[in-house]
Amino acid sequence: MERKVLLVLLDGLGFDTSVRFCGFMEGLVEAGRARRWKMAAVLPTLSLPCYESLHSGTAPAVHGILTNDHRRLSTSDHVFGVVRAAGGRTGAVAHLNFSELYNAAPYDAFRDHEYDDESRPIQYGRFYDKGYYTKFNLGLLSDRDLFTKATVMMRRFQPNYLLVHSLGTDSVGHAHGGQSAEYQAQAGMVDDNIAFFMEHWLELGYHVFVTADHGMSADGNHGGTTDDVRHVAFYELGHASPGVAPGLADQRAVAPTILHRLGLPIPAAMTVAPLE
Ligand SMILES: [Zn+2]
Repeated sequence: MERKVLLVLLDGLGFDTSVRFCGFMEGLVEAGRARRWKMAAVLPTLSLPCYESLHSGTAPAVHGILTNDHRRLSTSDHVFGVVRAAGGRTGAVAHLNFSELYNAAPYDAFRDHEYDDESRPIQYGRFYDKGYYTKFNLGLLSDRDLFTKATVMMRRFQPNYLLVHSLGTDSVGHAHGGQSAEYQAQAGMVDDNIAFFMEHWLELGYHVFVTADHGMSADGNHGGTTDDVRHVAFYELGHASPGVAPGLADQRAVAPTILHRLGLPIPAAMTVAPLE
């Protein structure tokens, strides 16, 4: 496998906040270097159900991860598995929930926190617990360390699919609310950190997507169906038709879109067409 995809997942970053406060990403759209969709997250708009939908291309009612308390291995066909089956390499720098979904559950920090093991579904793993990057009420949370770990992994192992997952926007949103100055500033900070790394990622040959699992309500919650928690931005760097896509995309399109850009077969359970 030659092609490489990076998915940057910004937890809890709603669509309106992305468009208003992520000036670097929006500048790429304006400059003709990226395409941006408005995307509807699956229901419920909770992290674990959305993580599994992003990687399985199916709704929670189908894949069965229905709450943040369903901490078990995925039973679906998913992006990590398809890449591995094709002989590709996989990596993740992410919250431990991803290790439990795709590596082993329950999480064992001394085994799973950091490893390079080609026999595992996620071959190169750097996982963190709540508290590593998510301390509440401590002001803004920098993703410089997280993105550095991902960049080091790219240089060392060239994973064909790499997930990097930031929890800062979700944490600050819960602490201060989705309309707060703190949440907006956190969105600006993660966007600024992406700006610092993006050219490195492109130079390393990565096709880059940036999105969120779900948004955040003004009172600091998510899970329901309102636009503030349901709508997220989905950015694709280097798309042949840059600019703003019309309509409302379906979050179940993310997994088949990643596989399509990697040139891999799309499992039958992924019934939504890749984004064009
Ligand atoms: Zn949350």
